[in-house]
Amino acid sequence: MSVYTAASLKAELNERGWRLTPQRETILEIFQKLPQGEHLSAEELYERLEHEGEGISLSTIYRTLKLMARMGILRELELGEGHKHYEINQPHPHHHHHLICTRCNSTIEFKNDSILKIGAKTAQKEGYQLLDCQLTIHAVCPKCQRALMPM
Ligand SMILES: [Zn+2]
Ligand SMILES: [Zn+2]
Repeated sequence: MSVYTAASLKAELNERGWRLTPQRETILEIFQKLPQGEHLSAEELYERLEHEGEGISLSTIYRTLKLMARMGILRELELGEGHKHYEINQPHPHHHHHLICTRCNSTIEFKNDSILKIGAKTAQKEGYQLLDCQLTIHAVCPKCQRALMPM
């Protein structure tokens, strides 16, 4: 897995016949500047772009996020109720997994090298090129467990 800079991404995209337009570059920059542990939905990204005076339509954002996720630039994180969040796909040692509460969507990131090793080994054995390897654990957080308890 590799981290993309604007320049290396441009080269990669060109190779695939896909241009890094200023809009796409702006979207990528936002994800690169996002603090560790933060994940953005398409709607949140839309609001952020609007706030920065970048009028990008929601449908363009959806398409761009899908494409960047398929290329392994972004990771798609499935929260409860089919609600998708995105983050930049970071290589080792920032590579991480998620523990998600299905009731309140609170998310904890954790690292585990053996999961990544299994992913890399499995892909390599089959001759696949690894783009990402993530474990998403769906659970109920302590706060929501307490809320569920009978009085
Ligand atoms: Zn994350
Ligand atoms: Zn919860």
